Amino acid sequence: MKLDLRQKFVVGNWKMHTTAAEARRLAKAVVDGIGIKGVGVRDEARVSVTICPPFPYLALVGKILNGSRVSLGVQNLYPEKEGAFTGEVSPTMLLDLGCKYVILGHSERRHKLGESDAFINHKVRVALAAGLDVILCIGETLEQRKANQTEAMLDRQLTCGLADVPADTLTRLSIAYEPVWAIGNLEHHATPQQAQDAHAVIRRRVAQMFGEKSAQALAIQYGGSVKPENAAALFCRDGVDGALVGGASLIADQFLAIVRAAISASQTQENSTTTAA
Ligand code: PEP
Repeated sequence: MKLDLRQKFVVGNWKMHTTAAEARRLAKAVVDGIGIKGVGVRDEARVSVTICPPFPYLALVGKILNGSRVSLGVQNLYPEKEGAFTGEVSPTMLLDLGCKYVILGHSERRHKLGESDAFINHKVRVALAAGLDVILCIGETLEQRKANQTEAMLDRQLTCGLADVPADTLTRLSIAYEPVWAIGNLEHHATPQQAQDAHAVIRRRVAQMFGEKSAQALAIQYGGSVKPENAAALFCRDGVDGALVGGASLIADQFLAIVRAAISASQTQENSTTTAA
């Protein structure tokens, strides 16, 4: 098995959940469970943790995360600096609030809100240019998987989503492979093998677009009903560099257990490399 030592990346997507009080409690519990910067430096180097609350709670959650090992992310943005865009939020506003990451191309925005590949690509380029790090979500529907179109779909979403993205910004981008049929779905789970296979397809395509070195450095997360029960089996797979977590990120104990699974998978990979060397 090819060993990889990319830092694992675990992101909680709270979607449109929590009240202000719940957001405060949840963020505090995650910070308490993960610790402050500089403590447990080896774990810190192994796993990067981010939470993405809803827009209205970014400021209050940002305050709680301040000085901690947990970064602030956001679930969306509008790709303009400012202007007459009623109800939208610009990258500059998000940076002002302390956001480091933005999730773009989530399947709920593609399928429920009708976002096109071209619009997502525009957002990706604007977000990177503004200084936000991007988590670009891609993934096939169940119908597409059944029709053997998974690879073609991933290819299309990558080709369009990353079109005209400057190669030197790729270090600030990660891909979340999220098969639509596995999101919020306890009955249809992607197996670790399905995740590994899809991640290999993604890495190959990114290598074609940006070169092998960029592709090898790229973090590819899996998303789709990641839970404490299946996290370890996913994280030990070659090329699975973490998780984008929806439902389980709303329960602090579950989210922390997933982070611990990432730390422990990373530790095992590090030990194997040391032994092999
Ligand atoms: C998601 O929202 O990106 C997600 C993967 O959700 P869940 O973990 O609930 O399937």
